[in-house]
Amino acid sequence: MASEPKTLQQAIQYFSDPDNCRTYIMVRRWPDGVVCPTCGSAKVSFLVKQQRWQCSVKHPKRQFSVKVGTIFEGSPLGLDKWLPAVWLVTNCKNGVSSYEIHRDLGVTQKSAWFMLHRIRLAMRDSSPKKLFGCRSESP
Ligand SMILES: [Zn+2]
Repeated sequence: MASEPKTLQQAIQYFSDPDNCRTYIMVRRWPDGVVCPTCGSAKVSFLVKQQRWQCSVKHPKRQFSVKVGTIFEGSPLGLDKWLPAVWLVTNCKNGVSSYEIHRDLGVTQKSAWFMLHRIRLAMRDSSPKKLFGCRSESP
């Protein structure tokens, strides 16, 4: 992870690559290796074509993407927009406005507001780690 983005420009460029997005979340969410978000099994295999993992245990929702169970799940916005937004929020000590996200990332201001709201909610009472994991803790 030596190439971790240091500037917004780098972040946008870095996260334009889906592999980088997946790895970025993966190492934060599953530092000890990928586990199934449904049953917790570590016996998962990566399906390159689908860009998803598949759990070896037989249960519904065996296949999962890196978005499953995170604040990004169910959002039509791609990780190429979400992750630079997270980067902005975590790196701008003076705070970032939805207008800045709108302008810098080229999403609508409505989307920017929504993203900012979700990111802040996830970061409010926990470490940034929560961003990439425990969606189920919020109502
Ligand atoms: Zn499983």
